[in-house]
Amino acid sequence: MSGVVLCIGGLDSSGGAGVLRDSATVHALNGTARVAVTAVTAQSDRAVTAVHAVPPKVVTDQIAIAGPVSAVKIGMLGRAGIVEAVAAAVPRAPCVLDPVLMSSSGHMLLDDLGVTALLDRLLPKVDLLTPNVPELAALARRLGVPEGDHSACVERLLQRGCGAVLVKGGHAEGPVSVDHLYRLGVPCVAFTAPRIDATLRGTGCRLASAIAVHLAQGASLVDAVTAAKHHVHDALLVAQEALDLGEKLTVRP
Ligand code: PLP
Repeated sequence: MSGVVLCIGGLDSSGGAGVLRDSATVHALNGTARVAVTAVTAQSDRAVTAVHAVPPKVVTDQIAIAGPVSAVKIGMLGRAGIVEAVAAAVPRAPCVLDPVLMSSSGHMLLDDLGVTALLDRLLPKVDLLTPNVPELAALARRLGVPEGDHSACVERLLQRGCGAVLVKGGHAEGPVSVDHLYRLGVPCVAFTAPRIDATLRGTGCRLASAIAVHLAQGASLVDAVTAAKHHVHDALLVAQEALDLGEKLTVRP
């Protein structure tokens, strides 16, 4: 079954992350992608050398012309004006927000006022927020929640009106990676997968857009997360195989 997903986010010129990765993921999972670009970035896997924010009105226009969609995935927003424009224009459909704050190369991708706008204006429109542990820690600091108190932070996020929070364990250590899905009044659900020794850019984009496409195709939230995690796991396995092959092919002097 096909589903239309509106992917709102930044354009990563390397193609590793952002809306290019989102639309590739949506199409790989038999969905159809519409795109609203919030910022154009110049980047490689090692550095971000330019970020050019798209005017909020142009973001709103892209959303308006997307037509009916069956789910929304939001990633990099850049600055407060764009967060506010997206919050005002986002269509009524299951909405997954990956709170992109920084690239893995260390460049800030959402400014300070943008984080405040995300918490105040956008969060109430979101059905699923997908922070990794560093992003959750940054949101906790902003909310005045004690460092490391994940459950207090998640509770505050849920109380602000977001439907569910998936805390991704990929940045932790250990042989397995565990993600936790929190909803108000429902027991937490844990998703466990073997940790794979491979670095792959855009895994957060991949996971959130895979969840969105499964929601667009009518899956429940738990089924959508389960299927999306399988998708990311398979991509990591391919990256690991490429890494192993590269090492075997490296000619050492
Ligand atoms: N650039 C853009 C436009 C993104 O949307 C994201 C993540 O969503 C990133 C960079 C960061 O990706 P990574 O963590 O793989 O560097």
